[in-house]
Amino acid sequence: GYAPIFTCANCFEVKMCKNCDISMSYHRSDHQLVCHMCGVIEYLPTQCDHCGHQKFNHSGFGTQKVEDELHKLIPQAKIVRMDSDQVSKKGSHERLLNEFELSGDILLGTQMIAKGLDFHRVTLVAVLNADAMLARSSYRAIEDTFNLINQVSGRGGRGDLASELIVQSFDAKHYAIVLACENEYIRFFNLEMKYRHLANYPPYSYMIKIIISAKNMEVLEEKTALLYQNLKDLSFDVIGPSDLIKINLFERKQIILRGKNLERMIDEYTQVQNELLSKLHNVNVLVDVNPMEIE
Ligand SMILES: [Zn+2]
Ligand SMILES: [Zn+2]
Repeated sequence: GYAPIFTCANCFEVKMCKNCDISMSYHRSDHQLVCHMCGVIEYLPTQCDHCGHQKFNHSGFGTQKVEDELHKLIPQAKIVRMDSDQVSKKGSHERLLNEFELSGDILLGTQMIAKGLDFHRVTLVAVLNADAMLARSSYRAIEDTFNLINQVSGRGGRGDLASELIVQSFDAKHYAIVLACENEYIRFFNLEMKYRHLANYPPYSYMIKIIISAKNMEVLEEKTALLYQNLKDLSFDVIGPSDLIKINLFERKQIILRGKNLERMIDEYTQVQNELLSKLHNVNVLVDVNPMEIE
């Protein structure tokens, strides 16, 4: 994520959510720690759980932190910040956009400001940490990165004024970033399709994502192995099982089915699931055909 993490200044222990395998996000404005996965909120700790130290750091790439830096650099600029904290109240989305249109100098936000906005006076668009998305393991990560940069660059230069684009990234030579900056959709499409073909990813194959979850890890491992045993010799490839992060006290595993004939894949999978129905009663099984996202 982009949100600042909260760490002990002495032992560098990261404050984690008690329900999920992810770090808590530090929210400066209300002095709280929030889990963006399960929504649990905690007050700031007075001492480190691990070593008892009483000083903490919060680092990261949160919009609040960027806002602080912009204030220092351009004190006279009026900054309108849009992120999930700011727009959680009803009607605040519209209000912030109006505020920017009428009197704002800089609109600062998360991905939510990448699409659809039509302001005529925007002459500079900047993307920070543009390749954060590339780090995800999803086969769509490259396409999503291209789309995000391409969309956000379209927020500038919509009126009579020319617009500049600045993209900050760790891997500035990556074709998703280079071609998005050059607005080369066709070239990107051809290259990406070549890689998808080589790797046998959609649209050159079909996928079914299966997520198995349970509060008890032993039960989860046993039932996932059972499902895998029954799936592995059918007409499709089976990828996994792999471990996913725990969410809201549920341990999770993932199995991906990949093949050329989706109808047959669904039939075969459904038959296996029906045969195992009584044995899988103590786990949750979530099936996603043609998943948009793979963790
Ligand atoms: Zn959580
Ligand atoms: Zn500590």
